[in-house]
Amino acid sequence: MNSFATQIISSDGMFYFGRVKSLVVPATDGAMGILPGHEEMIIALQEGILRYQDGDDLWHKAAIGRGTMQVANNRCTIVVDTAEKPDEIDVKRAREAKERAEERLRQKISDREYRMMQAALARALTRLKLTTQD
Ligand code: ATP
Repeated sequence: MNSFATQIISSDGMFYFGRVKSLVVPATDGAMGILPGHEEMIIALQEGILRYQDGDDLWHKAAIGRGTMQVANNRCTIVVDTAEKPDEIDVKRAREAKERAEERLRQKISDREYRMMQAALARALTRLKLTTQD
């Protein structure tokens, strides 16, 4: 047992479905690593970079939005608002989203909009970070 079945589902559909040897997810308290045989759990995920090593030992990265991860019976199910591979990211769009969110955060806005703009800023920063990593 050196791998575990993993599915990553976003609002756009199935992002990844296959065996994974190692997985690192952005949990609310920092990066969390998952290896085969991990104990059962359900945790919240925050905007950030997810990494996984597939059955051929290749590492992949994705920018994800908020969501949840369940690990049970050596299977991992990740459900997130959004997920993009590095080459799917439109850098200009992410820069514009970052600027829009920063501009709104400088203004007097409701608590609800403040939280929404913070989340939008976190998504944009994650996308930009992923496109500048090698
Ligand atoms: P925007 O304001 O540019 O729409 P957003 O963060 O509000 O950004 P989301 O609601 O997170 O956008 O995503 C909506 C859809 O657009 C999802 O399918 C997501 O994968 C995609 N998406 C958002 N931003 C980008 C981007 N910069 N490059 C590629 N796909 C993106």
